[in-house]
Amino acid sequence: MNAVFDHAGRISAARALLADHDLDVLLLSGGPDLPYLMGYEAMPLERLTMAVIPRDGAATLFVPELEAPRVEVVPELFELRPWTETEDPVVLVADRCRAARRVAVTDQTWAVFLLGLQRELPGVEFVSARPLSRALRVRKDPAEVELLRRAAHAADRVVTRLEATRFSGRSEHELSDVVARMTLDQGSDVATFRIVASGPNAASPHHEPGPRVIGEGDAVVVDFGGKVGGYCSDTTRTFHVGAPPVEFVEAYEAVRRAQEAGVAAVAPGVAAQDVDAVARSVIAGAGYAERFIHRLGHGIGLDVHEDPYLVDGNREPLEAGMAFSIEPGVYLPGRFGIRIEDIVVCTATGVDSLNQSHHDLRIVE
Ligand code: ZN
Ligand code: ZN
Ligand code: ZN
Repeated sequence: MNAVFDHAGRISAARALLADHDLDVLLLSGGPDLPYLMGYEAMPLERLTMAVIPRDGAATLFVPELEAPRVEVVPELFELRPWTETEDPVVLVADRCRAARRVAVTDQTWAVFLLGLQRELPGVEFVSARPLSRALRVRKDPAEVELLRRAAHAADRVVTRLEATRFSGRSEHELSDVVARMTLDQGSDVATFRIVASGPNAASPHHEPGPRVIGEGDAVVVDFGGKVGGYCSDTTRTFHVGAPPVEFVEAYEAVRRAQEAGVAAVAPGVAAQDVDAVARSVIAGAGYAERFIHRLGHGIGLDVHEDPYLVDGNREPLEAGMAFSIEPGVYLPGRFGIRIEDIVVCTATGVDSLNQSHHDLRIVE
């Protein structure tokens, strides 16, 4: 994690939220809240890693003894307590919560650990830490926006290089490997995911790259991401192998206009669902209302999908510092799919698009 972050300030903010929510302890395990607050990311293992942050008093990070060398100890933030293979870490954590009435647990905590804690602490009420986690992480500070921007620009460079790459004759698997290598070469610390969906496969928005060989006449949706300093990228561009038919071009233009209208609708105070509605109405106007089968976007930060969600029913107003995707799509089963995705940040006056690579249809060989 990046040393620019004020973990002490973040932990104090978390403690203030514990007080506001009448909570005694915050428990952090897998997921981004632990790295956000303490700068340490737990491996998702059957061995428990858990931070105990009481509202008053010192924080403790319990890790399996073999993971302890990975922890950068910051004594003013937390005490490190490695547990040995013969200890029961659930009991160790429970011992720190015996005086508590209400305890918040992060959503990514494994059920087996929460069930163990509930058995150990039958009088304690456990609640989801999501409202706290959201309040802490949903508005990105300038240092976080800068990392998201670097991640987005690294993804843009991949898109530009892909445009000069031969698609035809390669399988989705092969192209996915190419995208992974480019993601690292262009400045991401890790390549986190790839969707390479060709021809009819692209009608499935989350298609897993497979053995299908890409050929002339295929549209190919490439959706991929990496991380820079812990912060995620998530970008989609749609390519076409050879000259596209008129119907495809029309659908593509609808998606492009919807994406750009969605971005233009972003401003502080605008309800998240209204941005979705603006983009959706463009696609509906082109006759594809039933074929845009997912929400317009999701928040992004340390997690690739986090609050806020741009979806019908979410009335929450956008605020400066919120970062999210704008990613409309059109999916015609058995035929093709199209999606364009950029990451944007809501600013005090409007919107800042972190991705800068163009939205015209890219014709490849
Ligand atoms: Zn997705
Ligand atoms: Zn994506
Ligand atoms: Zn996305």
